Amino acid sequence: MAWACSACYKHMLYCPRSAGTNSTLIDNLRKASIIQSDRIVQAMKAVDRKDYTARYSYEDSPQSIGYGATISAPHMHGYALEYLEPFLKPGMKALDIGSGSGYLTVCMSELVGVGGKVIGIEHIRELVDVANRNVSKNKKEYLDQDRIKFIVGDGRLGYPEEGPYDCIHVGAAASEMPQALIDQLKSPGRLFIPVGSGSQTIILIDKLKDGSVIKKNLMGVMYVPLTDPEKQRNRY
Ligand code: SAH
Repeated sequence: MAWACSACYKHMLYCPRSAGTNSTLIDNLRKASIIQSDRIVQAMKAVDRKDYTARYSYEDSPQSIGYGATISAPHMHGYALEYLEPFLKPGMKALDIGSGSGYLTVCMSELVGVGGKVIGIEHIRELVDVANRNVSKNKKEYLDQDRIKFIVGDGRLGYPEEGPYDCIHVGAAASEMPQALIDQLKSPGRLFIPVGSGSQTIILIDKLKDGSVIKKNLMGVMYVPLTDPEKQRNRY
């Protein structure tokens, strides 16, 4: 299947943002205005995608990580971090649902810093092992210091044990909006989630100081579904 790019709608193989190094890839995302803040540039440069992908690490396209899962394309990671940035300030707490390779969990951790915490929740046990191994290559201290924790579980339920969260990122498409995730947001707090089973849309949910909720549709996307482990394993 050819992946269309939600940033420019060109075929990924010809994507002008693909690069030979991590640093150039991130510079290209910035030139394309996908990422804009210096903090995001620094965070994404601090996490080398080659630690999280077996090949094509610096292509702006999703790559298989096994078990019916992919590491999302760099431009989607860039958009997610950019939209969540006001809720990834130093000391904040975040939840990354469908943490897969662990790449985005670590980028989020770069942003919340040593006083913050990011929980990655993933329903395939083997992928939790993969994420722990990936992070251990160059950022083992993040695990040792409990800045990052990967949990095996159903992300549709969130992870109330560590909540509430300043922000929640969802890396797989929910068939409908999981209310549990909105409940686990702080006031204020922000949720970034792809929703839909045919065509999918990234929805940004803002829970305001008074607890009221605002929804905004951001862009059309193509993510793997937020589903049951058996269904995911059987698809491939
Ligand atoms: N954000 C990650 C992975 C994206 S792929 C990265 O970029 O590396 C989506 C991930 O969601 C997959 O790893 C898949 O196994 C996971 N997933 C799907 N349904 C899930 C569920 N119900 N609970 C937790 N994780 C789920």
